[in-house]
Amino acid sequence: MENVNAKTLKTLSDLSVVDLASRLTAWGFKGSHAEVLLRAYYETGEETGWSELILPRGLTERLYEEFLANRPETAARQVAEDGTTKLLLKLADGRTVETVMMTDFRDDRVAGCVSSQVGCAMGCDFCATTKTGFERNLTAGEIVEQFLALRREAIAVGKRVQTLVFMGMGEPMLNLDNVLEGVRRIAPNELGALGWRQITVSTVGIVPGIDAMAAANVNIHLAVSLHAPDDATREKLLPMGKRFGVEEILAAADRYQAKTGRPVTIQYCLLKGVNDSPAQARQLAALVGARRMHVNLLGYNPTGLSLKGVAYERADAKAGDAFAEVLRSQGVATHFRRPRGRDIDAACGQLRRRAIAGVNGGTSAPAAESQKGL
Ligand code: SF4
Repeated sequence: MENVNAKTLKTLSDLSVVDLASRLTAWGFKGSHAEVLLRAYYETGEETGWSELILPRGLTERLYEEFLANRPETAARQVAEDGTTKLLLKLADGRTVETVMMTDFRDDRVAGCVSSQVGCAMGCDFCATTKTGFERNLTAGEIVEQFLALRREAIAVGKRVQTLVFMGMGEPMLNLDNVLEGVRRIAPNELGALGWRQITVSTVGIVPGIDAMAAANVNIHLAVSLHAPDDATREKLLPMGKRFGVEEILAAADRYQAKTGRPVTIQYCLLKGVNDSPAQARQLAALVGARRMHVNLLGYNPTGLSLKGVAYERADAKAGDAFAEVLRSQGVATHFRRPRGRDIDAACGQLRRRAIAGVNGGTSAPAAESQKGL
């Protein structure tokens, strides 16, 4: 398990304004150029805005030399019939992560989904990402660069990124410092200007991470991937369920809600015969009904045999409707997450696995939708 040394992988987005100012000063330029340079870079997701700036000779060349060469490249790109665009980004050390743009949020807007780690160690049994294991945490800059790649994609189709979710590869709470550092560049007006309320961090239920995010005073949304209302079922699906029980996770979510005043979203992927019964819906409603939490029901993307050799199936539409109806009848705000990108490798980790296996990442794949909220 490699612990990345951010110093060896710096992109421009790894630097705050203060960091860049001190770098410029060390190179013999005025530190005051830092803010305008970074702001122009974030505005379009690339350095095109610099051509309109009056900068000292040699400065942009030095920036290219030192930082821009490390920027992630698009190694594969898939566009679904519904416009969902999935990017496989190659990082400076050759590793790859997935980033997704969903185009149908509103006509002129898109929603983005970014990764927080290369691979994942959580071992959720229905997830494709974890099958390739954990490689390393992403730096804050690599997280920001995913957002900027989405911003470029959106601009190219005349839209803008409206919301960003950390529901791609990895468990954000296990790389929380870098996730929050990235968020602190993406959200505020000085740089990314996306807005704090437009960002959601999703966790499989890492309680200390939820508390740390609450303590960090960042006014962003929290989503919890629950996927079962009882510990016995949950532990079969999510190994982390053995470490943190349902009640303990929801208590942490309560604390997050109390601290931030923001309703927590519960993610629940419906699996046929596993967690889709009316009794389980009643159990879930009893847990979240009084808590003001929203429930997002997700369709499952078959990704072959699981780590434990299980061939999970998507819950029948009838079972899904009945499940939602039970929740709604108990007063729980419930949404079905609309499937997107079903004609591409939309499930989290699928495109990367195909690329690792040497299959052309740009070809289409069996219909699928993400387990993580796409
Ligand atoms: S669902 Fe998320 S936390 Fe679980 S293994 Fe996949 S990427 Fe990791």
